[in-house]
Amino acid sequence: MTGLLTTTTFFVFGQNADAIINAKEAERIERVLSADDMRGRKTFSPEIDKAADFIADEFKKAGLQTFKGANGYKQDFIMVSPKFVSGSATFDDGQVDSKNVVVITCQPVFTINEKSGYEKVKIEAGKNFQIEVMKYVRSGKNYFVLVDTSYSKNFSRLTGLKRAMFKMDNSLVFALTATDPKTFTVESRHDMTEQKLANVVGILPGNSKKDEYVIFSGHYDHLGIGKPDNHGDSIYNGANDDAAGTTAVIMLAKYFKALGNNKRTIVFAGFTAEEVGGFGSQYFSRQFDPAKVVAMFNIEMIGTESKWGKNSAYITGYERTDMGAIMQKNLEGTGFTFYPDPYTTQNLFYRSDNATLARLGVPAHTISTSKMDSEPNYHKVTDHIETLDMENMAMIIRSIALASRSIVAGKDSPTRVKVEELR
Ligand SMILES: [Zn+2]
Repeated sequence: MTGLLTTTTFFVFGQNADAIINAKEAERIERVLSADDMRGRKTFSPEIDKAADFIADEFKKAGLQTFKGANGYKQDFIMVSPKFVSGSATFDDGQVDSKNVVVITCQPVFTINEKSGYEKVKIEAGKNFQIEVMKYVRSGKNYFVLVDTSYSKNFSRLTGLKRAMFKMDNSLVFALTATDPKTFTVESRHDMTEQKLANVVGILPGNSKKDEYVIFSGHYDHLGIGKPDNHGDSIYNGANDDAAGTTAVIMLAKYFKALGNNKRTIVFAGFTAEEVGGFGSQYFSRQFDPAKVVAMFNIEMIGTESKWGKNSAYITGYERTDMGAIMQKNLEGTGFTFYPDPYTTQNLFYRSDNATLARLGVPAHTISTSKMDSEPNYHKVTDHIETLDMENMAMIIRSIALASRSIVAGKDSPTRVKVEELR
């Protein structure tokens, strides 16, 4: 069977794809990203910058352009962690219990009253609390948010927003209250810690549909250094998770540049901070009007054989759009199969960077081969390059290239994710 497949796929992909996307090239990139000197590419570590510089250099060699005319391929942003010091509030001359007020701000010393121009809004009972909160967080405006007392259990969780926030100019005051105060004062003090992060982003502008975007992505961060195992190894190399996806993104960039016929603009992204909260993809998603993002191919852990063996992978959230069906149609006759995610109880659709864009309606899926019920090296220090099958990985990347071509070419547009059906 393997022999036949090789012949068929050679015919379909042509020499072009094989010349650019092959096991040797996959190994070259993998060796750098998963090397011990990257020390597990931990978010906020100096070594993750080394990985970012390498990816940026590969994007440059691929001939990609920078995103929105940026200086370079690194998309820098700052995360702020405010640590609460003190706070007080009065509503209509009455002191308010400080645990019923949460201030989300990047100002170390914060003080407002009813004359400060904060728009007063209310989260009524019976809404999706998280969605309502995020609406105001992302608004970029100052709000004084009255929270219905039916949310008393959820209210304290708002302080979780302070663990890491994007640096913002606006501030929000959330108050758990049954009243609608006419006059108020709110004061708070926080110690602010700022940390710099970067995605790596490059684009190939579309030949005709420049304002329609197709995204290929993988996260380049991993878990860093842990306790030594029996062999004294303490480095989480993350060769599969997700140097493999990052390798795919780099090779796809080179492939589509060589192909040179993309009608839509292709965006190639290496995300930071996936393992610690998905901040990289969240920041990235804010740079787009989601309606203009036609598809997102997020690639995670494709270095091992899937549960069905070689020449196959799965797609998370397969049934949520017809993107998987389009991809499979483009692979007819190749012997390669994209299956629906078989690990449905693990909620993989929500556990990677695709989810951020999917929540905005974008047909955004993760492609993987990881056997999530039995992958022996998943999130272990043994996630080494030696455990990966480079030939199979190259085949998967060629298949993603072929499967996505009609979307890149502007012929197919997958159906949108129905946001109201997401949890
Ligand atoms: Zn991962």
